[in-house]
Amino acid sequence: MKRAHNFFAGPAILPQEVLEEASQGVKDLNGIGMSVLEISHRSKFFEDIINQAKEDIKELLNLPDNYEVLFLQGGASHQFAMIPYNFLVKGKKANYVLTGSWSKKALKEASILGETYVSATSEDTSFDRIPASIDISDDSCYLHITSNNTIFGTQWANYPDTGNVPLICDMSSDIFCRPIDVKKFALIYAGAQKNAGPAGATIVIIRKDLLENQNSNLNTLWNYETHIKKNSMFNTPPVFAVYVIGLVAKWLKKQGGLEKIYGINKEKAGLIYNLIDKYPDFFKGHAKENSRSLMNITMRLPNEDLEKLFVEEASKNDMYGLKGHREVGGLRASMYNALPMESAKALAEFMEDFYKRHG
Ligand code: PMP
Repeated sequence: MKRAHNFFAGPAILPQEVLEEASQGVKDLNGIGMSVLEISHRSKFFEDIINQAKEDIKELLNLPDNYEVLFLQGGASHQFAMIPYNFLVKGKKANYVLTGSWSKKALKEASILGETYVSATSEDTSFDRIPASIDISDDSCYLHITSNNTIFGTQWANYPDTGNVPLICDMSSDIFCRPIDVKKFALIYAGAQKNAGPAGATIVIIRKDLLENQNSNLNTLWNYETHIKKNSMFNTPPVFAVYVIGLVAKWLKKQGGLEKIYGINKEKAGLIYNLIDKYPDFFKGHAKENSRSLMNITMRLPNEDLEKLFVEEASKNDMYGLKGHREVGGLRASMYNALPMESAKALAEFMEDFYKRHG
């Protein structure tokens, strides 16, 4: 079967093995004579799927028992509102570090619901870096960060120490790309459709004691407690998306876990950053050195015509998804866990060749 070199930012590439297993599951789930699309979410079949997916995620991230894994709907954008709806309490401020468009969107939703405080921002340098220092307000109910900025191509190298202030993190575009110390976080969320599965489910990892400081009188569906109590099945969950997330988690374990994947991710991204460093006046990387993302590599070429040509020629070589986000233009190569090394090598070779012809 032909596989293109897939650099889309999301929905994005999935491992070939996962696609094969999922297509079998769509036809007949583990020989039960029914498709994964046909089973009740209340059945033992699905209960096994969701519980195994949770177990595998817990194992991958080394999650302590006081954390719960949820699969919710509404995308990461719904979490932008659900977090302050639950945890931005009267008399306190929700703190946000602004590192790109997504964190600004998260802040906007919190501002609708209560008081906010910008702890740091890199907007004055076009979000080309993770701010070096942050200022947490005295009356902070949480600090929100975006670990990887999908549009600008920056990523936190080290997460901040927030003491007693709960740290909440949007990991939509880099969950599972490297090992993390989960204990630093009170809540992690990630739309699955980049590095963890198909569109339709948002993974939420929540430390249960966070509920002690929750607002009261919350609508049922928008209350984290509801989903914890009902094992993400208060209402019909996104069955297929949870199933594929489970397959991805299993695949990650088979690859050797997150430490192993991290090594491969560094190698893949390194191939592209090497060219950015080799021809800095041609491949003009956006992210400052110590803020470079392993997942989304962003750059400009000397002019827009060359950028257009690059994308056109790349697609003739079976490389897709290299156009930069519409907010910033330029080029972007998304290099998630499922991207094979050979695709990273193919892009590096193409860049070298493109430079020789147009540089
Ligand atoms: N946060 C980040 C970092 C993202 O990259 C995206 C999607 N591109 C979102 C949030 C929004 O995700 P969703 O479309 O699932 O709402």
